[in-house]
Amino acid sequence: MSDTVAIVGGGHAAGQAVVSLRQYGYEGRILLIGEEPYLPYQRPPLSKKFLAGELEQERLYVKPAQFYEDKRVELRLGTRVESLDLHARRLQTADGETLEWERLLLTLGSRVRMLDLPGATLEGVHYLRSIDDVRGIQPQFRAGARLVVVGGGYIGLEVAAIARQVGLEVDVVEMADRLMARVVCPEVSAHYRDLHEAAGVRLHLGTGVQGFGGDRRVDKVVTSAGDLSADLVIVGVGILPETALAAAAGLDCDDGICVDEYAVTSHPDVLAAGDCTRHPNALLGRRLRLESVHNALEQARTAAATLCGERRAYVQVPWFWSDQYDTKLQIAGLSEGYERVIVRGDPASGGFTVCYLHDEDRLLAVDAVNAPRDFMQAKKLLADRPRVDVARLADPQVPLPDACRVGD
Ligand SMILES: Cc1cc2nc3c(=O)[nH]c(=O)nc-3n(C[C@H](O)[C@H](O)[C@H](O)COP(=O)(O)OP(=O)(O)OC[C@H]3O[C@@H](n4cnc5c(N)ncnc54)[C@H](O)[C@@H]3O)c2cc1C
Repeated sequence: MSDTVAIVGGGHAAGQAVVSLRQYGYEGRILLIGEEPYLPYQRPPLSKKFLAGELEQERLYVKPAQFYEDKRVELRLGTRVESLDLHARRLQTADGETLEWERLLLTLGSRVRMLDLPGATLEGVHYLRSIDDVRGIQPQFRAGARLVVVGGGYIGLEVAAIARQVGLEVDVVEMADRLMARVVCPEVSAHYRDLHEAAGVRLHLGTGVQGFGGDRRVDKVVTSAGDLSADLVIVGVGILPETALAAAAGLDCDDGICVDEYAVTSHPDVLAAGDCTRHPNALLGRRLRLESVHNALEQARTAAATLCGERRAYVQVPWFWSDQYDTKLQIAGLSEGYERVIVRGDPASGGFTVCYLHDEDRLLAVDAVNAPRDFMQAKKLLADRPRVDVARLADPQVPLPDACRVGD
C-alpha cells in the first residue's frame, strides 16, 4: 500500500503543509480534508480589505485549484472529520465515509469564543472567523448602518477601522479599561484609543455587555453603561483551540493539542500544527499556544519536514501584526512579564516603537507602530534577548542593534 498522509483541517497551516511536503520531496499520497467548502485560505484579510469588499475571494487562497491538481493532492472540501481511530489508522467523516492513513497531520485551527448572553442568537449578531461569516455580515455592512463591536482586541478594532472607512457608525464595547489590554502596554493602548476616537469611533471602555435586544433581529446592545442602538453586532472576544477531535482520540491536550518541537503529538505518527497546538519554544523556555499566521506557516513547515524524515525543530521568535486605518502594528516577541518599557520616538508623529524590558534590561518584546525597520531588527535580536543600553535605546536615531550590548 502506498504511504498516505492525511491532513485534517483545510486552513492556512494545511495549505502550507501541502506546499512544503512536495517541496521537501514527499512523493506519497496526500489527502486534505477540510470542513469549509473553500481551498485553504488566509484569514487576516477577513477583518480588513475582504470585509470592505475590496479583495476578490480568489486572492485569499494560499494556492489556486490548479496547484493541488499539479501536486496530486486529493481534496475533500466541505467535509468534516467526526472521529479518528489512531490504532486502526482510520478516520470517519460526517458523511459516514471511512478513510485510511499511515500518518496524520491535524491543522484544526480554533473556533470563536461565543457569548452566552440573553439575545445572543438574534439575527444580526455575528462572529468573524471564516469567509462564510463575512458573507453573512456584508449585506448589512453599509454606510450609515449602526455597528456595535463587542471586544476591543485586534479583530474588533480592525473591524471598527474598516467600518469607519466604509461609513458605518461604530461603537466598540470593551470590558477592560483600555484597548488590546491582553497584548500591548498602556502606551500603545492609548495611541490606538486616540486613533479610533479621531476616526469617530465611540469607545466604551470598562463596560460589560449584558445582552442583546430586538424582535427576531438585533436592534440594541444592553451594556453595564446603558443601551446602544445597533443594526449589526460583530463579536470578537477571543478564540479557543480546536482540540475536541484530538482529545476524543486519546491524544494529549492541554489548552491545545500537545506537540513537541518537531510538531509530533503524543502519538508518533500523528502531527499537529497551527492555532490548535500547544508547543515548546526553546527561546522562551516554555510551552505556548499562538494564534498567528507566522506560527501556522512555520509549524506547518516543521511538520512537513518531520514527515519527510528531517529533524528541523520549530524555534522561532513569535510575531504578529494588525492593520488599523493606515497604521501598522507589528509585534515581535511576547511581552508578558515585562518590567518596564522604553518608548522610541514620539507617538504623536504616528510612528514609534515600544521596547519591553525584563531581567535587568534585557529586550523581551517590541511593538513597532509604523516602524518596520525597528520591527525587522527586533525579530533578529530577540532570539538572543540582549541586554540594552537604555539611554541609546530611547533615542530613535540609534538603530536598535546599536543600542544592544553585545556579549553582555
Ligand atoms: C478575522 C481574522 C483576522 C486575523 N488577522 C491576523 C493577522 O492580522 N495576523 C496574524 O498573524 N494572524 C491573524 N489571524 C489569525 C490567523 O488567521 C490564524 O492564526 C491562522 O489562520 C491559523 O491557521 P490554522 O491553519 O492553524 O487554522 P485555520 O486557518 O483556522 O484553519 C483550520 C481549519 O480546520 C477546519 N477544521 C476544524 N475542525 C475540523 C474537522 N473536524 N474536520 C475538518 N476540518 C476541520 C476549520 O474549518 C478550518 O477551516 C486572523 C484570524 C482571523 C479569524
